[in-house]
Amino acid sequence: MKNVAVIGAGTMGNGIAHTFAQSGFKVQLIDISQASLDKGLATISKNLDRMVAKEKITEEDKQATLGNISTFTDMAQGISGVELVVEAATENVDLKLKIFKELDELCDEATILATNTSSISITQIAAVTNRPEKVIGMHFMNPVPIMKLVEIIRGYSTSDDVTTTIMELSSTLGKIPTEVNDYPGFVANRILMPMINESIETLYNGVAGVQVIDTVMKLGMAHPMGPLQLADFIGLDVCLSILNVMYDGFKNPKYAPCPLLVNMVRAGKLGVKSSEGFYDYSESRKAEKVSKQFKS
Ligand code: NAD
Repeated sequence: MKNVAVIGAGTMGNGIAHTFAQSGFKVQLIDISQASLDKGLATISKNLDRMVAKEKITEEDKQATLGNISTFTDMAQGISGVELVVEAATENVDLKLKIFKELDELCDEATILATNTSSISITQIAAVTNRPEKVIGMHFMNPVPIMKLVEIIRGYSTSDDVTTTIMELSSTLGKIPTEVNDYPGFVANRILMPMINESIETLYNGVAGVQVIDTVMKLGMAHPMGPLQLADFIGLDVCLSILNVMYDGFKNPKYAPCPLLVNMVRAGKLGVKSSEGFYDYSESRKAEKVSKQFKS
């Protein structure tokens, strides 16, 4: 496999394109927005500069990586000649179903279609195509060029051959792939999101403040980042949407999002991306002021 298309040049898409290109793949990066493509390429270039400065790669490696990436706003042109598509567009079921229907019509019948979705059913996405055995989840972690894990999610109909190909391909990228089955939240979010939700519930019940909860988990459990700060980085809207997918999928109240999380999202306090969540990021990303409502 040499030619790959990545759909979406946002946070994850540019990281996925970077990772494939640095491993020598020709990457066709597609986004509906030229501004997103420009921003994505600028991010890749800046991240490569950082690697050059740390002497992890050479200037020649950087140029070769950038030379492996071409950009497209037109899907039909962008997927031409590729053996694998990795979709990393906005997390929205209707959008993903539409993209996969289109991909199924446009791509060569041998092309494998992967999605980086955090929470949408691979089986549901596969069902809108005529090749459900060639549809698979490839759940990269943020930031993609640095994080080692790729959660490989087998849909109900994903074939053994396709799973093996994608597991081996992930190793070629220098990642550690793990094979999991397609149930709400897969493994990573099924375990992470209840922990984040419980941290918010602990805050909501007044057991402790933001910094105390994060300190307990950092120093007591050796987590590199406290769960509330991690939630701010992931985006509180994203956390809420993944919890809702698990709540709907399992019909189990243990996944019900904490009312405080729901309120914060309604108030537009989404974490780092809106400059305020459990911490205040307005002056600098290093500022760690607790949000007004719940002081520690
Ligand atoms: P993002 O909002 O940063 O980027 C999404 C990009 O998709 C945007 O540039 C947008 O213009 C583009 N897009 C929208 N519709 C499109 C279309 N029809 N065709 C092509 N491009 C289109 O989102 P993100 O955080 O990069 O998330 C992308 C996917 O990765 C989601 O499925 C998300 O669940 C998943 N994911 C995100 C994270 C994370 O930490 N952000 C981690 C793992 C997985």
